[in-house]
Amino acid sequence: MMDTMLETLRPRAMELGPAADMTAGGNWRAATDADRVMWLVLDRPGKSVNVIDRQVLEELNALIDRIEAERPAAVVLRSAKPAGFAAGADINQFVGASTDDIRAMLGQGHIVLDRLEHLAMPTIAVIHGHCLGAGLELALACRFRLAVAGASLGFPEVMLGLHPGLGGTFRSLEIADPIEAMTMMLTGKPADARKARRMGLVDTVLEERHVGNAVTAIRTGEMPAREAGLRQRAFGLRPARSLAARQMRKKAAEQASPAHYPAPFRLIDMWEQHGGSASAMRRAELDSFAELVETPTSRNLVRTFFLREAMRGAKSGRSDIRRVHVIGAGAMGGDIAAWAARQGFVVTLQDIDLKPIGRAVKAANAMFAATLKDPLKVRDAADRLIPDPDGIGIAHADLVIEAAPEKLELKRSIYAQVEPRLKPGALLSSNTSALPLEQLAEGLADKSRFVGLHFFNPVSRMQLVEIVSHPVVGSETARRATAFAVELSRLPAPVRSAPGFLVNRALTPYIAEALLMVGEGIPKERIDARAQGFGMPMGPVELADRVGLDIALDVSASLAERLGTQFPQTPPWLAQMVREGRLGIKTGGGLYDYVDGKPRKIHVDAIPDGAKDDPDLEDRLILPMLNAVVACLREGVVENEDIANGAMIFGTGFPPFRGGPMHYARARGIDEIVERLRALEARLGPRFAPDPGWAELSQRVD
Ligand code: NAD
Repeated sequence: MMDTMLETLRPRAMELGPAADMTAGGNWRAATDADRVMWLVLDRPGKSVNVIDRQVLEELNALIDRIEAERPAAVVLRSAKPAGFAAGADINQFVGASTDDIRAMLGQGHIVLDRLEHLAMPTIAVIHGHCLGAGLELALACRFRLAVAGASLGFPEVMLGLHPGLGGTFRSLEIADPIEAMTMMLTGKPADARKARRMGLVDTVLEERHVGNAVTAIRTGEMPAREAGLRQRAFGLRPARSLAARQMRKKAAEQASPAHYPAPFRLIDMWEQHGGSASAMRRAELDSFAELVETPTSRNLVRTFFLREAMRGAKSGRSDIRRVHVIGAGAMGGDIAAWAARQGFVVTLQDIDLKPIGRAVKAANAMFAATLKDPLKVRDAADRLIPDPDGIGIAHADLVIEAAPEKLELKRSIYAQVEPRLKPGALLSSNTSALPLEQLAEGLADKSRFVGLHFFNPVSRMQLVEIVSHPVVGSETARRATAFAVELSRLPAPVRSAPGFLVNRALTPYIAEALLMVGEGIPKERIDARAQGFGMPMGPVELADRVGLDIALDVSASLAERLGTQFPQTPPWLAQMVREGRLGIKTGGGLYDYVDGKPRKIHVDAIPDGAKDDPDLEDRLILPMLNAVVACLREGVVENEDIANGAMIFGTGFPPFRGGPMHYARARGIDEIVERLRALEARLGPRFAPDPGWAELSQRVD
């Protein structure tokens, strides 16, 4: 599927200038055409995308020597990779680098890009596909940027706790609308070619076949360079910047706190102070970037980036799945079917009731339109999602996903009907969140092709899929299920069938403790705010409302029973709420009331003085979660800490800037955590008893 995607991105007959020799080092090809235009084509050997590193820039430096000697009429920079111009800097360079290393490396890079910028002849970046981070910074050092339709330009550095560091800050502000450029750097959101043109980041948008003519127009002076606009001049003045900076800080603070994510705030300060002078901005950019690289936030975000790459790259090969049949078109089945159709699979969707199928198709069409945008793609995705109340698709499916209600007998009876109709080699899977797979598999003739595919709600946003194995799952079944998750653009985490698998086992004590604290009289807004203060995307009280209080209680009771561990007792007032049908957002209200899907909360600052608090509040929420992860590691529910970290970040939103629960535990100190758990156990009861697994963990901080 990926190959086809890349193929569609490849401009037909890409204009790469004359056939050219690789220069020494081998990342660039250079050749001069009959019009004396020198074409520099970036084509990193053995890679599907270009990334920019020290070597690429050193080779460019040598090419600039050659340009200065040969004096071509114009210079074109472009990429030979079908996927795009460049995906950004090579992030490996940042791993373990000190501020001084980075400063030296960037200093060299700046010199090269400055030389490129000051060449006497027109320099032209031809941009197709993705042009991100350092790739965009390279393009910004050229005098002209031609974007081939469909190109996507952006500064994703903020996602790594950084901002542009190779001149991107001051060049983008000089070239494009400064507010738009700042927004792009602050949010990390890419702009498509047309938007990039509107904001002034590129000179023009054209079709691939017009690249040659545009280069000629620039060489002959027919197409002049753009002048800086009015907005650039206005924001050259400090008062204008200060006004805008205030707004930006406010907006950035709504997204993340400066303590957790300093980079956007640094960038705003830099712009406010130095935005009037490119040279001051250049110095500030370099200093600030070099400092940010060493912050725990950036190191952990880089770590999270590699965790994601490792999960995505799970050496699983191809699933060889084309047709998927989903049984149960409810909250999960409908979403799974829609997402699979969006990602290119042919999906049949079955339910005993027609209404949920209708609802699922309607919701799917809305999701296709919102996420795919292109009407042809929307139509194709809609064509791939086929309502199938009679289950005709079962016999043609390579994979059947059962997403029927969470009842053992019901699921088993579905399998009894489905299994005899499966074609040879087809897989059978369940989206169960809690039922033991070995019990579900009991009646199956071939248990080895049965596997758990535990998606999270909402499927389109939650990236994790737990691939749940049981004692007799076939290794090929697990491999193909993993590959399928990757093909769905989700992140697979292998886990063993055990109560709650990993994610629900870790989340349940967190939610249960929060509900207990509500019962103790601690304002729920305070509890949620503390969890969010730690960096969780949503407080546990609101999360309980979203999951459904009935489901939260069920899961908690079933986990407690099956694990034989202690959870906080369900408070009677909560059981009463559930009996009265006040179940959370799905009934319009739970612990909070909801207006348009948003909880009505008192602002934390408005919580009355003297309202109940607990100095251990944060630890009471977070440490049981860590304790459960350690138990899962000890029991082999999850194989290693990296998978546990990745699964918790992508399945629960555990703060990525903390690098995942185990990394957080190690950074804080295992002994300290165990001591805190003991203190909480003494004060609040055995539910805080440290898991024996802590003792087995080495004290290593990675
Ligand atoms: P749901 O009640 O929303 O949907 C279940 C659907 O199955 C209903 O539309 C129902 O009509 C249909 N159904 C019932 N019997 C059927 C049968 N014999 N054949 C075909 N269809 C049948 O439930 P849900 O929330 O989508 O949960 C489905 C599964 O996913 C459960 O195992 C649940 O534990 C799991 N899960 C749920 C969530 C969640 O957040 N809701 C998250 C992860 C996993």
